[in-house]
Amino acid sequence: MAVLDRRLLSDNTDVADDGMLTVGGCRIDDVAAEFGTPVFVYDETHLRDRCREAVGAFGYGRVIYATKAFLCRAMARLAYDEGLLLDVASGGELHVAMAAGVPASACTLHGNNKSLDELRTAISAGVKHVIVDSFDEMDRIDALARDGVVGPDGSAPDVVLRITPGVSAYTHEFISTGQDDSKFGFNLGNGDATRAVDRARRATSMELVGVHCHIGSNVFEASSFAKAAEVMADFAIPLDLPELVLGGGLGVAYVEGEEAPTMTQWGNVLLDACEALGVRSKVSVEPGRAIAAAAAMTVYTVGTVKDIPGVRTYVSVDGGMSDNPRPVLYGSGYESFLPRAVDDPRELTARLVGKHCESGDVLSFSAQIPADTAVGDLLAMPVTGAYGQSMGSNYNKITRPPVVFCADGDARLVVRRETLDDLLATDVG
Ligand SMILES: *Cc1c(COP(=O)(O)O)cnc(C)c1O
Repeated sequence: MAVLDRRLLSDNTDVADDGMLTVGGCRIDDVAAEFGTPVFVYDETHLRDRCREAVGAFGYGRVIYATKAFLCRAMARLAYDEGLLLDVASGGELHVAMAAGVPASACTLHGNNKSLDELRTAISAGVKHVIVDSFDEMDRIDALARDGVVGPDGSAPDVVLRITPGVSAYTHEFISTGQDDSKFGFNLGNGDATRAVDRARRATSMELVGVHCHIGSNVFEASSFAKAAEVMADFAIPLDLPELVLGGGLGVAYVEGEEAPTMTQWGNVLLDACEALGVRSKVSVEPGRAIAAAAAMTVYTVGTVKDIPGVRTYVSVDGGMSDNPRPVLYGSGYESFLPRAVDDPRELTARLVGKHCESGDVLSFSAQIPADTAVGDLLAMPVTGAYGQSMGSNYNKITRPPVVFCADGDARLVVRRETLDDLLATDVG
């Protein structure tokens, strides 16, 4: 049966003489021994190279990393050092970015229901853009202006309006956001977008600098982006604003046989489309997954192997839906393999499950793994660098795994494993 397609592994992976996988020159068994399992292992150079590829494709100052994909101080710093701006979607994400030393002026604030406090903090800190999502949010920005809340230079905040262009991307319903029936943004089709532009232009509480759209996440069809660009260009060109933000959403291959456009191809499609349409605004994008997903793998330890003859085999690992909720949320597929046997045939089909107290706690519905997979084996799941750690939880009071950045033979802990005391840190009862 199929061996693992090594293209699903991050760029800087190799196999040592004894067959053990290395990431950034670090042996996976050593990383597991030092930091325990489960552990998120990031190939730091891969992350940097994706940032550089994005900047190469779109230009300096035109790539805004969507931090919700994966955020900790080390990641915020890395993205900023590589010339990216940061898209934050809450006061919490802004706090972490600023705690990493990223200036607010390099952050853009998203969110369909930003609180007054989040807006006040972001505006006074001087975020680059507030991406305004609703008329109610405009009311809040007006109220803050009446209270004298302004940026560090005394001026009203620069705002970008989030437009819902009515383009449906071919992706999961919960992560497709550009269609008319959406909680996000001002609908183009019903005239809200035009009303929002008129209001923002008249307002003294904000300075309208551009429009934005995000058609969805994990989009594999470059043509979906070209379609959105076309609809947005029609709307944006007559407005003659300096900024056009075309969102994120570039898909990545998670499993065998998937093929996603590269960052460079994405850039070519979008920028060619914009040029052909006559867009004169500065075009920027907000990739999240395409930067972070393929940079990491999660390494678990196998705890039980239960064969039910004629039914199936269950393989349980020491994590689960608390470190990767995507299979449960979206039915997302992942590959799995043994770091000690990267290129071995994987002839056992098993259901890979976690340790949570529910049957729905599945990491892979039909994982292909080597037949000799045994209790105590390290088991790795690639392409878990986006929306794993960041969507994780403490369900069943399981402590969150650490994050390790590997590069040049050095394994650097950037987020430690939670302790049992961390579980009580907010419990004041
Ligand atoms: C989630 C999101 C992104 C990033 O999406 P990816 O699929 O991770 O690239 C970019 N922009 C906005 C507004 C988002 O909500």
